[in-house]
Amino acid sequence: MKLGFGSATAPVASGPVCLQCGTAAPSTTMTFCRRCGLPYGAPPRVEAELPSCPTCYATVGDDGRLPSFRPARGRIDLVEHMVEHEDNPVGDDDYLETLRRGDRIVIDRWEAPFDLVRRYLVTGAIDGGRRRDFQHSAIVTAMSQLKRWGPGADLFGDQAEWKLARDAVTTLMERYHRA
Ligand SMILES: [Zn+2]
Ligand SMILES: [Zn+2]
Repeated sequence: MKLGFGSATAPVASGPVCLQCGTAAPSTTMTFCRRCGLPYGAPPRVEAELPSCPTCYATVGDDGRLPSFRPARGRIDLVEHMVEHEDNPVGDDDYLETLRRGDRIVIDRWEAPFDLVRRYLVTGAIDGGRRRDFQHSAIVTAMSQLKRWGPGADLFGDQAEWKLARDAVTTLMERYHRA
């Protein structure tokens, strides 16, 4: 991850942003977010569901903001945060895109849902919400096992297929995070 010092990117001068849904105002003359009915720049309502960054999956805080990659900038809105990812990528997404086939990702001889794998590479977490859809994927099994036991574990009742898939996911993880 690059540090912000000496970065070519000037401080972001984005327009008004709704802190509740993380969306930039379509024009600078608008003062309210049409979607939320909230003034731009106002803190989100207490009960609001807060937006997350599609790149690093971080959810904004109660103030509708995230910490900047450059500490001197303090907390910034989601639009500024997403611009900062141009200089602060979470991994090699160009490489990951070369493995993408539609909404799937091909890893060696297996495939799995692209978003599920990317989220695992970035956060180490597996969203089990739709587990039923991908319970037959060796890659999903491998990610679950790696999350639980880590790489190189000796698993009781292990299958050669799972071990190969775990090695493939571990290799992909290293490749994705290589600077
Ligand atoms: Zn809004
Ligand atoms: Zn992010």
